[in-house]
Amino acid sequence: MSQQLEVLNKKLKQAIDTRMVLEHARKHQVDTLSNFAAKLSLSCKGMDIELDNRLAKFRSALSKGVDFEAFSPLIDEILTLLKSQEAQQAAHQRELHNSVLDAGKLLQKTKGLPEDARRTLRHLLDHELNNVQSTRDFTPLLNRLVAIYHQALHAKLTLSDSQQTAAQPSLAKELLNLANDLVFEDEAADQVKTIKNNISETDSVDDLLRAAIEIIKIIAGNISKERQSAQSFLVSLNQTLEELHHSIVSTSKHSEAMGAEFDALNKRIEGKINNLTTQTQNATSISALKALVDNELKSLSQDLIEKERLEQQDREMLLGSFQEINQRIGNLETKLSKYKKRLHEQRFKSLLDSLTKLPNRAAFDERFNHEFHLFAVQESDVTLVVIDVDHFKSINDKYGHSAGDKTLQVIAKALQMSIRKSDFIARYGGEEFVLLMPGMSLEYASQPLEKIRKAVKGIPFKFKDKQVEITISIGATQFKKGDTPLSAFDRADDALYKAKKTGRDRLCINK
Ligand code: GH3
Ligand code: MG
Ligand code: MG
Repeated sequence: MSQQLEVLNKKLKQAIDTRMVLEHARKHQVDTLSNFAAKLSLSCKGMDIELDNRLAKFRSALSKGVDFEAFSPLIDEILTLLKSQEAQQAAHQRELHNSVLDAGKLLQKTKGLPEDARRTLRHLLDHELNNVQSTRDFTPLLNRLVAIYHQALHAKLTLSDSQQTAAQPSLAKELLNLANDLVFEDEAADQVKTIKNNISETDSVDDLLRAAIEIIKIIAGNISKERQSAQSFLVSLNQTLEELHHSIVSTSKHSEAMGAEFDALNKRIEGKINNLTTQTQNATSISALKALVDNELKSLSQDLIEKERLEQQDREMLLGSFQEINQRIGNLETKLSKYKKRLHEQRFKSLLDSLTKLPNRAAFDERFNHEFHLFAVQESDVTLVVIDVDHFKSINDKYGHSAGDKTLQVIAKALQMSIRKSDFIARYGGEEFVLLMPGMSLEYASQPLEKIRKAVKGIPFKFKDKQVEITISIGATQFKKGDTPLSAFDRADDALYKAKKTGRDRLCINK
């Protein structure tokens, strides 16, 4: 009997050990998933606000507990958002493809197009365009290019030579602006530079058409590179999440089924122990008692062996599924780091701020230098404006970061709607925007800037059912002879500082 008790003891110990291993594996798994979710949130940040929010929720759910079933709806939401991202990208791609194709076909019909331009165009339409995939950020650029194309074409088809020359400066200027909005580095940057020089020296519509084709080619080449990695990343992210989801659900379903078996077994063991207790009380002799206990212990030992087998099976199943999940996460992480590396290698700089869809700081710097260069030659009036949202930190503090993000988007839209077509606005960083107004002297700038200030102030923001007024402070200056870009910017910044100091929600001008 003591031997059997020893076996029983051993089995019990083993069962406890098995549980501990299982618990440890679970904890490890949750850590892995949390890390993964954290990385995912970071790498996807800025692609889509909703996606950001869902991922943040996913991460906080992971950090709170082990309830896999509770993740299901969250993962579903993330998957839906990812799918709509993919669909959006595909739609933009079609849109872009069609507009370039239309413009190209029209151009092909033009009589007297220089032969080399015609050849480039044919190649572009027949081969290169098929490989092009668009990114959202570039669609507006290409659309602008296509519009210029049509204009140039129109000029070519309908105007006499002398009129063509007269129409050229404005076309050239628009094309030049477009080329300036292209912020590329390395090879593409050199190409754009050459094109820019050509545009400013030429006086023929043909040359402009040729330049437009070249610009399309450069945009297309860069888009294609960037998009391939972005698209394949999105697709594999989506797949992995789907697989992960599947694993988690099937693991927890399996655990449920196992749980039922465990319950039945436990009941059986309990029953036997009760039975043993009753029979022991009723036993009439020591030998009968010994035989009884002997038999029941054998049977109990069998049950414990069975219990251990079930637990072993459960453990293997869980560990197996954890391994699978880990491997998938590992694969995705490798892809993610490759994707980042590739983007870095291409040194591709996006022109648009992903949150507000306004030009970003890199785009502004390019444009600023360009306008500054023009000013040095022409000394035309250029007003430079710095805009900063008042007490923005308190919006984040009171209503949360994602309310802050949405607020920035709404303000950006209002700013964009309030400026002239020839103005250039960018998100300079955080809650700060800069505005360039070519052809505008400081003397006349107050009225349109006051209009902008009032437009933002008039936005009916509502947070937590409370009407909230948000204001901006504006500092403005004008390019002056002897300025450097830095000295002009500092002057505008000083004006902004003064606007803040003297009560905010106002425009200050620094001559
Ligand atoms: P002031 O009137 O002096 O400009 O006050 P302020 O609170 O606007 O200025 P401060 O520079 O102290 O704070 C700016 C805040 O803007 C801090 C930062 O958390 C927030 N912010 C910057 N970028 C973003 C963003 O992309 N999203 C959100 N939600 N908040 C941002
Ligand atoms: Mg501020
Ligand atoms: Mg600020």
